[in-house]
Amino acid sequence: MSQHLTNDCIFCKIIRGEIPSHKIAETDKSYAFLDINPISEGHTLVIPKYHSEFFHEVPEDYLADLLPLAKKVALAHGFEQYNLLQNNGPMAHQVVKHVHFHIINKPNREQGLGVGWPQQQVTQDQLKSTLIKVKEKL
Ligand code: AMP
Ligand code: ZN
Repeated sequence: MSQHLTNDCIFCKIIRGEIPSHKIAETDKSYAFLDINPISEGHTLVIPKYHSEFFHEVPEDYLADLLPLAKKVALAHGFEQYNLLQNNGPMAHQVVKHVHFHIINKPNREQGLGVGWPQQQVTQDQLKSTLIKVKEKL
């Protein structure tokens, strides 16, 4: 496990126990702990025990372990409405460069994550052209 962690990453240090955290649960491949600056009560981070900056760099077996743990934690918190969020890159608001899924309770309109959703109007042709580009790379 430790060969997949780095020395200078804050979340790798949390996994190794070198920095304290409010651990909720862990498996051999994932670790869940409370966010130190919660957006709402119970704000949790679930991370793979594999250092990588981006979601697409995490091996499948770590991803397959992570989501069931996120589900268990959301159920244990008793969240009814919540966001499961994962940021990739600084423009997408990623600050810590170790992949992490946020689980953020949304108990009412005031508390929890405020999300702007800037939707665009596009044509069928634009959707088709996007489809062609992605499908040829699959
Ligand atoms: P992001 O903007 O998606 O990179 O979010 C990083 C999150 O990590 C923020 O919500 C921080 O509050 C949280 N965070 C940073 N350092 C710690 C820490 N030592 N323990 C718990 N959460 C942390
Ligand atoms: Zn790391």
